[in-house]
Amino acid sequence: MEYLTNSVEGTKTAAKKIIIKLLKRPHPGALVLALAGELGAGKTTFVQGLAKAIGVKEKILSPTFVILKRYGVRPLGRDKGSPAEAGTPMNFYHLDCYRIQSAKDLAGLGFEEILKNKNNLVVIEWAERVANILPADTVWLNFQHKGGDERRIKLKM
Ligand code: ADP
Ligand code: MG
Repeated sequence: MEYLTNSVEGTKTAAKKIIIKLLKRPHPGALVLALAGELGAGKTTFVQGLAKAIGVKEKILSPTFVILKRYGVRPLGRDKGSPAEAGTPMNFYHLDCYRIQSAKDLAGLGFEEILKNKNNLVVIEWAERVANILPADTVWLNFQHKGGDERRIKLKM
């Protein structure tokens, strides 16, 4: 599946559509979204749209210097009639692997436990770097900068 966007808002809207769709699929462990693509391709912008859609109130920044950040999903995200009502996760984890070399650098963060919990939604920027430890049912999203404000998001699952 492929999404073309021409603006920050367009990318956030695509994120909302995609997460609503994905939350309806069964997943034995965490729901994992792996975001790949160059700097400025729109990965963090996508995560901001996704977080808003599931009811995260905090501002999402790139967690480059902390690698992993957890956000609580407020009950609002699970209210009847809210966009992501079906299967909204309890915990939302945002990772940015830009500054790490391999999955070994995630040691000590409890990441393997996080991946096992089906109440977790895990979204990873620069996921290529840790691909070898991600679950087989990870959803891969490839971000491409097409020039100007145009971005292409390709979804592979
Ligand atoms: P990444 O996390 O992939 O490095 P960011 O989301 O942090 O990318 O940055 C994307 C940059 O591109 C932002 O400065 C944003 O304003 C700009 N931009 C322009 N058009 C778009 C678009 N269609 N989608 C997302 N970002 C866009
Ligand atoms: Mg980013």
